[in-house]
Amino acid sequence: MSASLPSPIRFYSSMLTVVGLCTIAVDTSLADEYLSGIKWKEPAVVTPGTAGGPPSDAVVLFDGTDLSAWDRADNWTLEDGVMISGKGNPITKESFGDCQLHIEWSAPTPAKGNGQGRGNSGVFLMDRYEIQVLDSYQNQTYFDGQAGAIYKQTPPQVNAMRPPGEWNTYDIIWTAPRFHDNGELKSPAFITAIHNGVLILNHFELQGDTPYTRPPAYTKHADRLPIRLQDHGNPVRFRNIWVREIRPAHGEQVREPFLRNAKGEERPIEAAADQ
Ligand code: MG
Repeated sequence: MSASLPSPIRFYSSMLTVVGLCTIAVDTSLADEYLSGIKWKEPAVVTPGTAGGPPSDAVVLFDGTDLSAWDRADNWTLEDGVMISGKGNPITKESFGDCQLHIEWSAPTPAKGNGQGRGNSGVFLMDRYEIQVLDSYQNQTYFDGQAGAIYKQTPPQVNAMRPPGEWNTYDIIWTAPRFHDNGELKSPAFITAIHNGVLILNHFELQGDTPYTRPPAYTKHADRLPIRLQDHGNPVRFRNIWVREIRPAHGEQVREPFLRNAKGEERPIEAAADQ
């Protein structure tokens, strides 16, 4: 880290190591620097959104003005900048693979019904993998079916629900499954999810899709598929929905990793290890 500091600061920078009662000062300006040999592409500049709003490189799926990003949303209601669940399961016109999804939702108030019948909806990544939307505020149901569950596969780590009528946020990091040409699974799907700022799923490995009537299973599908919202007969409200494609940082190994000393002299890792 110190190498990126201006040289006067770097000169005085030191790392203190406490060994028993002795304090040893190591001047990092004299230490060899490890370099990976990878020529990294400069990360794109993204302007963050304000208060959960979409960052500059997001695809906005719903900003309160219209439902034009969705098919099958004819019977959902747009009211006061909010989309309200009605008959049918809206599905995005655009398809997504690995992505970061932000979605806000609010359970109906006053609360009606109980268990799976209270404020039920769902967010289906790739049209088949459901993270549950449910009013799980003081509402018991089977744990792998409560809000934040990957339906029938795992409960959320904790229940971070806000009361009905208040807004919940899901921030989801989705890694799509990969398939071989012959249809076999190459790598499973993974999900990390944060509910109202609280981690509820940490790189959870999905066992397959999330049906009610049979065990989860993977069936080969496209690399990119739409996101679907569930109609479960309850008027769940949604707002501020956006998604970002996940693109890994890009770099090219232009030489082997190496070390550079304080004089700027370079040598390979192997030679350094021999000394
Ligand atoms: Mg559901």
